[in-house]
Amino acid sequence: MPRIKPLPSDLINQIAAGEVIERPSSVVKELVENSLDAGATRIEVDIELGGARLIRVRDDGDGIAADDLPLAVTSHATSKIGSFDDLEHVASMGFRGEALASMSSVARFAMTSRLRGEDQAFRIEVDSGRMQAARPAQHPQGTSVEVRDLFYNVPARRKFLRAERTEFAHIDDLLKSLALARSGAEFRLSHNGKSVRVWKAARDENAMLMRVAEVLGAEFPQQSLRIDHAAAGMRLSGWVGLPTASRAQADSQYFYVNGRLVRDRVVAHAVRQAYADVLFHGRHPTFVLYLELDPVGVDVNVHPAKSEVRFREQRLVHDFLFRTLHEALAETRAGQTVQPES
Ligand code: ADP
Ligand code: MG
Repeated sequence: MPRIKPLPSDLINQIAAGEVIERPSSVVKELVENSLDAGATRIEVDIELGGARLIRVRDDGDGIAADDLPLAVTSHATSKIGSFDDLEHVASMGFRGEALASMSSVARFAMTSRLRGEDQAFRIEVDSGRMQAARPAQHPQGTSVEVRDLFYNVPARRKFLRAERTEFAHIDDLLKSLALARSGAEFRLSHNGKSVRVWKAARDENAMLMRVAEVLGAEFPQQSLRIDHAAAGMRLSGWVGLPTASRAQADSQYFYVNGRLVRDRVVAHAVRQAYADVLFHGRHPTFVLYLELDPVGVDVNVHPAKSEVRFREQRLVHDFLFRTLHEALAETRAGQTVQPES
């Protein structure tokens, strides 16, 4: 019987990477979320070969202190929470302190950053979990992360990467969902040196709706209703598609809880109920909705990719969503009702 021994840390990180880093789009998600947590207003994503060769995310956020660079790529090290109480109140996208450690164990990784108020930037490189000392570099305020040759040292994973355009499509979809989450920030996406998307910062509601239209189609603004309602310590805002904007597939549904895109049973059920009598069977509503509530009321520490949440008061959230949407759709319903013959 072999004896029990602790695993080396690079192996621990590679195992953890299996949970968080499934494909290139998972790397993009973690990096862009970090940029948003750092208060970035401008985020540039450059991709080569569907992300298999290069994923680079540049931001103009707060930056990282030179001394903190090695910690940023150390697992379970984070600037976002420090206690159980913080975890309960967490409002940032990240808090596990695992993403950079994970990705740097399964790729060639480099991070360059200049802290707000400093005039010198620093860069660290990590290759297969081996870190080099931080050295001075050129960089404007903010942070750039480069992830090259993803899974080059995990052949079993590398083999599962799909065709370049499939992986890029995942990245594009992901960026759309992030761009809808933060209309106030500018996002740029390029593939193999060609600009693919530019979303300028949206300063008002109309500009936000234009961004929504770029994702959901140019007809969406005419086929949707504006929602903005607050009650019971919650606020629901955004746009819901009229029955004419419904689709055969449930592929145009964006629901954000405190800025985080989530898939949730309670939400799905409330929305389905609200649409029940205005949509034909087999049709799926289209919507972009933002639910804001006290972070204490929602547990985001349910899933490694944090795409699932658990509401503390499911019934309350369900009823608030159902009522708000049902009422908004009432006009549609009235218009559809056949008038009784007099
Ligand atoms: P988490 O986001 O859960 O804290 P990460 O591994 O994603 O874990 O990042 C580790 C730490 O590195 C963060 O807590 C943050 O302090 C720092 N960091 C990462 N990316 C950036 C960025 N783009 N700008 C500023 N700080 C960053
Ligand atoms: Mg993170």
